[in-house]
Amino acid sequence: MSTATTIAFRNLVGGELVDALDGGIRDVVNPASGEVIGRVPEGTQADVERAVGAARAARTGWRDTTPGQRQEALLALADAVDRHADELAALEVANVGKPRSLAAEELPICADELRFFAGAARTLHAPAAGEYSPTHTSFVRREPVGIVGQIAPWNYPLMMAIWKLAPALATGNVVVLKPSELTPLSTLRLAELAAEILPPGVLNVITGEGDPVGRGIVTHRDVALVSLTGSVPAGKWIAQAAADTLKRVHLELGGKAPVVVLDDADPAKVAAGLRVASFCNSGQDCTAATRVLATPGVYDALLEELVPTVAALRVGDPAEGDAIEMGPVVSETQQARILGFLDRAVDGGANLLLGGSTGRATGAFVEPTIVTGVGQDAEIVQREVFGPVVTVQRVADADEAIRLANDVPYGLAASIWTRDVGRAMNAIRALDFGCVWVNDHLPFLSEMPHGGFKESGYGKDLSTYALDDYTRVKHAMINLD
Ligand code: NAD
Repeated sequence: MSTATTIAFRNLVGGELVDALDGGIRDVVNPASGEVIGRVPEGTQADVERAVGAARAARTGWRDTTPGQRQEALLALADAVDRHADELAALEVANVGKPRSLAAEELPICADELRFFAGAARTLHAPAAGEYSPTHTSFVRREPVGIVGQIAPWNYPLMMAIWKLAPALATGNVVVLKPSELTPLSTLRLAELAAEILPPGVLNVITGEGDPVGRGIVTHRDVALVSLTGSVPAGKWIAQAAADTLKRVHLELGGKAPVVVLDDADPAKVAAGLRVASFCNSGQDCTAATRVLATPGVYDALLEELVPTVAALRVGDPAEGDAIEMGPVVSETQQARILGFLDRAVDGGANLLLGGSTGRATGAFVEPTIVTGVGQDAEIVQREVFGPVVTVQRVADADEAIRLANDVPYGLAASIWTRDVGRAMNAIRALDFGCVWVNDHLPFLSEMPHGGFKESGYGKDLSTYALDDYTRVKHAMINLD
């Protein structure tokens, strides 16, 4: 790694740090300043071929390691993440525009996820071996799927890479991983650390655009499973493209999380919760609290609490200091996309109670924004904005809140705020989302599954459910004659 004016990283393929085969290079930008901070290889289909070839060569050797040996490797990687936590966090701050405090919080979580999967892979379950026919003994093997292609987004680059590679490697798969072209730095540094620990070819990290590098991974005949964390359009394309080779697909896609607030909720607590859940990481979180549905008895009191609470967020370039709570969004493209949503919402009659513009002359900033006066059919209610924007709708009662909460194409996460345990339990059952929080919104755990319903995709990250997704089940049947 060089730290002259920019940081230069290389891909990891077959245990070697390599440039793109055709010498292509991409600049990586700090979204807070617009400055080029890094240079990375810009891959092509040839780089996909080389990486899949390296994975193929490593496949049998890694498959034949014991769960205990794989645990040792993942624990060593977790230790390396801990040792390099400050450096990795600094890369996330510079490349994504995250506040320093958020990046610092993410690093111990990344190490914990590696440690969870290191141990969890030693606990795989199957039905008991036995004589289910008097003349045969049957048992079940859980095997790695083979070569796994993994494609990651830009909002939590390092954490998403770890959510993907940890369960895949723990269960004996070999991996070709592509970080987002916008935010590859921390994943490439992780790859350098992994090169000291993992056998060559077990983890390959290659950079480049969705097309050709992502597309090359998805369409490769030797890749047995593709896992994407990304947008719904990319997920739909991947699901269709994967049909040609009938490879398995694991999709963690977008979200539009509702926040159901009932009359008996404490408006100050809800506002404090939304300050984090809607604006953490500049709202670029697939589970972000984006749609508040408040019943009449709490609606006005909630807005009275929410507007000053959110207005107090300290927004700025994370380089300005540890007090910054919200940085820019990831790119000027994303900034323009968010402002486009807001312009169209206002044209459609929405009110901006707070924010609504960039707030700064330079950098990809968007102010924390609260929108009211929107109907259920409004684009800003129906589509993922992926920025620091929350809508607040008044609903007639709890039934309407649940109905409108479910009335979007997404199904990733939701929350309900009430002191009534019966109402909370009914809402948990009725909400069509892969995670439902009660009186909270955003926390997740290594031990618990994360994944959506509907157009938020299918497959689970985290937890032992991820181990199911990264293994195949084989029945062995032995004739006892
Ligand atoms: P994106 O779909 O544009 O890109 C994600 C990754 O897919 C990138 O690496 C990109 O290069 C690649 N890609 C894009 N098109 C591709 C194609 N046709 N074939 C193969 N690869 C392709 O998404 P993004 O803008 O980087 O990330 C934001 C999205 O990710 C949001 O929709 C967000 O909700 C979602 N997300 C979901 C979760 C989750 O767990 N459900 C977590 C984080 C982010």
